Amino acid sequence: MPAAYYDDDGNRVKQCTKCKKVLPVEEYYKHAEGVTADGLQPRCRHCTLAKYREQNRRRAKKRKQKSHKLNKLHVDWIKEQKGKLSIRETARQFSKKFFAYKINPSTVQRIFAGKIHVDAGEQDTISIYDLLAGASDLTGSVEDYVESLDPKKVKL
Ligand SMILES: [Zn+2]
Repeated sequence: MPAAYYDDDGNRVKQCTKCKKVLPVEEYYKHAEGVTADGLQPRCRHCTLAKYREQNRRRAKKRKQKSHKLNKLHVDWIKEQKGKLSIRETARQFSKKFFAYKINPSTVQRIFAGKIHVDAGEQDTISIYDLLAGASDLTGSVEDYVESLDPKKVKL
């Protein structure tokens, strides 16, 4: 990792490990003491911020996917609505009952049709959101896609 140094004009500069630009040390955030020899972040301010933005974006995406995770309770509740409520109404009531959870009517339809089951006590079930998002990238059916996944985690 290149540390800060003095250039030919006597300016203290440092090369960013990401964008490779040689910039004045003022363009770098300080690092926690003792981590780097010069006490500065290896990436320039611009690249450091870009890194955090990307991390935040990924974490936000993860949170969003978590909120779409259906467990047995959810699936059972949806099954109970079959014959009582329409698909659309079930989806609407679902988000009311389970607070922030939103569900796609097409997922309700699949559960009504008996095409999605969640095992009892299965903590690590795959998110239906992931499942449908992944399936849309395939030319085959959702069933084909699910077959390519760990069969212990998803059952159709
Ligand atoms: Zn940079």
